[in-house]
Amino acid sequence: MKITRIETFLVPPRWLFCRIETDDGVVGWGEPVVEGRAEVVRAAVDVLAEYLVGQDPLRIQDHWQVLTKGGFYRGGPVLSSAVAGLDQALWDIAGKTYGAPVHALLGGPVRERVRVYAWVGGDEPAELAEQIAAQVDAGFTAVKMNAAGATAPIATAAETAAVVARVAAARDALGPDRDVAVDFHGRFTAASARRVLAELAPLHPLFVEEPVLPEHGHLLPGLVAATPIPLATGERLYSRAEFLPALTAGIAVAQPDLSHAGGISEVHRIASLADTYGAQLAPHCPLGPIALAASLQVAFATPNFLIQEQSRGIHYNKDADLLSYLADPAPFRFVDGHAPRNTAPGLGITIDEVAVRAADRTGHAWRNPVWRHSDDSFAEW
Ligand SMILES: [Mg+2]
Repeated sequence: MKITRIETFLVPPRWLFCRIETDDGVVGWGEPVVEGRAEVVRAAVDVLAEYLVGQDPLRIQDHWQVLTKGGFYRGGPVLSSAVAGLDQALWDIAGKTYGAPVHALLGGPVRERVRVYAWVGGDEPAELAEQIAAQVDAGFTAVKMNAAGATAPIATAAETAAVVARVAAARDALGPDRDVAVDFHGRFTAASARRVLAELAPLHPLFVEEPVLPEHGHLLPGLVAATPIPLATGERLYSRAEFLPALTAGIAVAQPDLSHAGGISEVHRIASLADTYGAQLAPHCPLGPIALAASLQVAFATPNFLIQEQSRGIHYNKDADLLSYLADPAPFRFVDGHAPRNTAPGLGITIDEVAVRAADRTGHAWRNPVWRHSDDSFAEW
């Protein structure tokens, strides 16, 4: 079997899909994207495709080595995400070729369902409570929320109080048996994070995510020591090598993104590395259906797995949502806040190719908002 063609599709709301075709007629799908830089990743995929066309798609590990390391310069979000999407598509082809779901090829299932969480926004505690009630009604047992918007480098007393009030409202709405995870999104300095973490601890968040920016990872050990809250990070880390210092620092939850951190191949290895530190896997996935399908395949084969992010109804999804490009939404029909194990071959989803080709003709130019502090200086988003 040989790879004959690789195409990319820029589809709303902010995604990029790739499609690998073989001379046997087997087709694999992947989602190589960096949110806000999709066109740049598309160009990287085009360059990597030069190597892959003509190759045997089943030599996934060898292709991963060449695609990741064969250009001499390596790593970073663009190249790692380009490799990630191609890697997902190769695993999809392998599963379809062998007639097995990807998780069977990764060693077989270690669980029968995967817990997923829903996003809730809402700037006001009352709005938040309403949104949480809707997600609880939909069966979810966990939600995630942003802690705050643009925040002063040293958060004011009012800013800190507002964070605590919102998380307290979430805890009230959820009760003691459901979970809330809180995403700091790198918007706090370590000094602010330390103070806010102390006040959030009695509210028992499942974890706090990106307590500081990835480039301040050297400050993680101090934060881990300062709080009983499990700390999570990793959506902006792209390889085992980048996870190692965070794991050594004592993070409790590793959050690689299947579409950023080298795909199924590398995230499977990151999960094993995390296991040696007693850390749990909770892959980042505010993305599309292929990234989620790839995440779930890893979750079914990973013992140290905690919970999966998913983007149904997330605030970014305008013009299209998680199910828009699926021929059959069944794989993402969650039951009691869990995705049931999917035994279909490959990634286990069927892409609506007509819808994808039509959406690509519209495309998108999604960009991250640029935030400013009250003095007009740049603020982390
Ligand atoms: Mg996050």
